[in-house]
Amino acid sequence: MNRDLVNILGYEVDSFDSAQALEYAVKTGGLVVTLNPEMISQARKNPEFSKIISSSNLTIPDGIGIELGLRILGRRVKRIAGIEFAHKLIEYCAKNSKPVALVGAKPEIIEEAVAKIKAEFPSINIVYWHDGYFAEEEKIIQDLSSTNPDLVLAALGSPKQEMFLNGLKNNLPNAILIGVGGSFDVWSGRVKRAPKIWQQLGLEWLYRTIKEPQRFKRIFPTLPMFIIEVLKERLLTK
Ligand code: UDP
Repeated sequence: MNRDLVNILGYEVDSFDSAQALEYAVKTGGLVVTLNPEMISQARKNPEFSKIISSSNLTIPDGIGIELGLRILGRRVKRIAGIEFAHKLIEYCAKNSKPVALVGAKPEIIEEAVAKIKAEFPSINIVYWHDGYFAEEEKIIQDLSSTNPDLVLAALGSPKQEMFLNGLKNNLPNAILIGVGGSFDVWSGRVKRAPKIWQQLGLEWLYRTIKEPQRFKRIFPTLPMFIIEVLKERLLTK
């Protein structure tokens, strides 16, 4: 399966649909980046993070921001919600007896998320889990790697989770590594996703900002600036 990459502000995004992206991730392994405008804005200030994104094995357009940005640049690519993609990866691992590891979120949240995943997929083999508030990263990397998982989900927020996963690459060259942001909070049952209609309208970010107003400063001015940058790119490439 060949990748059809579309460029947005210097970053390549895969134009696969969700099923194709899953097939590709399973075949190639490696780092999966769930790209959003906030990550691009951070990457522009953080060369190490920028390099990690650029060297991903798969980059999915996570959310309306990237979808809209690509539309402005003349490409129609359907967004793939990172949390749903990660859930499909878990399902795949459960069905195919592939061991899974999870790192991130608060101690009680990761315990609850692991319990919920085990309840949903009784055949799942979760070989390692740890909360996301640790000091000795090297030890976590060694302990996790020694369990040899085929899928590692890291919920540490960006860019922390991608940096952490990048540090696992050498030890686990064939595993699928994916940063999942606040997904464990959702899977634990403590945080609710936006109602379906908000998701379908591409307004999940607005719903989350209303529910957690402290997120406001993360979205503004990042989102409008992102759209302005994309418009600038479009003008310059015409
Ligand atoms: N987190 C963590 N360790 C840290 C910082 C954050 O485990 O040092 C967790 C946090 O508890 C939450 C997740 O990372 O579960 C990040 O969630 P957020 O909603 O910020 O992610 P987003 O999806 O917005 O990137």
